[in-house]
Amino acid sequence: NNVKKYFPLKKGVFSKQLGYVKAVDDVSFSIFKGETFGLVGESGCGKSTLSRVIMRLTDADSGEIKFDNIDLLNLKGEQLRKQRGKFQMVFQKPFESLNPRRTVGQIIGAPFEIHGAAAGADKEKRVKRLLELVGLSPQYINRYPHEFSGGQRQRIGIARAIALNPKLVVCDEAVSALDVSIQSQILNLLDDLQKEFGLTYLFISHNLSIVKHMSNRIAVMYLGSIVEIADAEELYANARHPYTKALLSAIPMPDPDFNKERIILSGDVPSPVNPPTGCRFCTRCKDVMPICSEVAPEFIELSDKHAVACHLFTNASAEIQQQQPVLL
Ligand code: SF4
Ligand code: MG
Repeated sequence: NNVKKYFPLKKGVFSKQLGYVKAVDDVSFSIFKGETFGLVGESGCGKSTLSRVIMRLTDADSGEIKFDNIDLLNLKGEQLRKQRGKFQMVFQKPFESLNPRRTVGQIIGAPFEIHGAAAGADKEKRVKRLLELVGLSPQYINRYPHEFSGGQRQRIGIARAIALNPKLVVCDEAVSALDVSIQSQILNLLDDLQKEFGLTYLFISHNLSIVKHMSNRIAVMYLGSIVEIADAEELYANARHPYTKALLSAIPMPDPDFNKERIILSGDVPSPVNPPTGCRFCTRCKDVMPICSEVAPEFIELSDKHAVACHLFTNASAEIQQQQPVLL
């Protein structure tokens, strides 16, 4: 709820004059148990910072991150360590995220040691089982990361992430570094593991097609803010925010007869150092109105599966309310 994370431009100096990067600016959403919650947006929009804040790899400046009514931002030391095992991450670069000097057995076994969950023969048995679960031979247990392909390495990263039966797995661009043919294998693996273990995913990607394939609900992020949240199908059939529409229009369609008008966004994403006032998208929006650069739009619930932050709907909802007949 209302999570903010600013980075000072000059390290350690928080001053308005020097400025800061508003990486995550007042973001709120919920993830439901057992679902895949997709978070999509162009690179640099704050997705990764947000995921690091949720994982407590970076501290938020303000806001709340609640898990089963425990506010994670207030936890420290032993209490935090206990909760930490419930949240795991699959990283973008499967090679960089695996220590090259450690064997696969040591890498996948590390969470058991850190959290005192298993040791010795018991640990080895569990590591072998995890290797099987992610589609690798248990005989690989003494091999090193460089002996594996990119896809296999990502399987190792996934095995490490699910070792302790986490409640939430954050996948940050988990397949972006892989060949397209390998991507679908890894996505299918994530799908299978979710079914088997009832995992909950926060699935982060700049690739809308992949997010659509994976997610139950999707949030669209632009320049540190979430602009639209909806059920996956609803979002694709009925996107309302001008930024979401533009993003969707850029997805290549397999059917050439399906004539979709491509919306070209003018200009670049503005710098998150001094983002536009009011609606962050106002410098590029084709529907921009005078109010847009003055007032930041609130989230409007269009239905129980769809919410949008855009003045087109603030005004519309006010008008609809005015048009409501008075019941006598
Ligand atoms: Fe465009 Fe205004 Fe809506 Fe922002 S609030 S997306 S500028 S219409
Ligand atoms: Mg990123």
